[in-house]
Amino acid sequence: MGERRSSSAYPPAVDRLIRELARMPGIGARSAERLAFFLLKSDRDVALGLSAAIADIKTAVRHCSMCFNLTEVDPCLICTNPNRDHERILVVEQPKDLIALEQTGMYQGLYHVLMGRISPLDGIGPDDLTISTLVRRIDDPSLNGGIKVREVILGLNPTLEGDGTALFIAEEFRGRDLQITRLARGLPAGWQLEYANKAVLADAIQGRQSMG
Ligand code: ZN
Repeated sequence: MGERRSSSAYPPAVDRLIRELARMPGIGARSAERLAFFLLKSDRDVALGLSAAIADIKTAVRHCSMCFNLTEVDPCLICTNPNRDHERILVVEQPKDLIALEQTGMYQGLYHVLMGRISPLDGIGPDDLTISTLVRRIDDPSLNGGIKVREVILGLNPTLEGDGTALFIAEEFRGRDLQITRLARGLPAGWQLEYANKAVLADAIQGRQSMG
C-alpha cells in the first residue's frame, strides 16, 4: 500500500500510469513518478517497446504443460529437445530456480517446476502444486517421448518447507523402480537456490545424494 499522493495536477493518463507503476513490488509513489517521467521524455520506441514487452508476457508466454517452465511454445524447448537426457527429471520450486541451474551448464536432463512448495501455514498443500503431473510423467513414458524416467533429482530450496516438500515427493515415489536423489547440501540452510553462484550449484548437481 504505497502512500497515496494527490497528483491531480497531472493529466489523467499520466496519473493512471503512475498509479499502475506504483503497484509493482519495490516501487513506491515517488519511484513511479520518476519512471512515468522517464517514459514521457523518452523516445516513442522505448515506451512502446516496454508496453509491447508487457503485453507479450501475458499473451505469448505461458507454462509448459509438461514441466511448467515458462515458454512460448508448448511443450517447451527443453522437454522436446532430443539431445537432453529424458531419463532424468530435476524438480525445482520456481522457474527462476530452473534458470539458475540451467546457467551452470552442468545438467542435461529435464526439469519439473512445482510452482511452489508445501506450506501448511500458508494453506498450500500437495494438491496446489504440480505433483500430479510429475507422477503422470513418471508413470506414463508416452508423455516422455517413450523414455522411462530413471532418476528424480529433488532440487528444492534448503528451507524447512523445501525439505518437507522433498520428503513428501520421495515418499510419493517410494516403491517405484526409480532412483530418488537430492542436490548435495553445498547450499547453506535457509539459502535460496536462485541466489547461489554457478560453482556451488554445479557442485550440488554433481554431488547429488540418494534419498534411499
Ligand atoms: Zn517443458
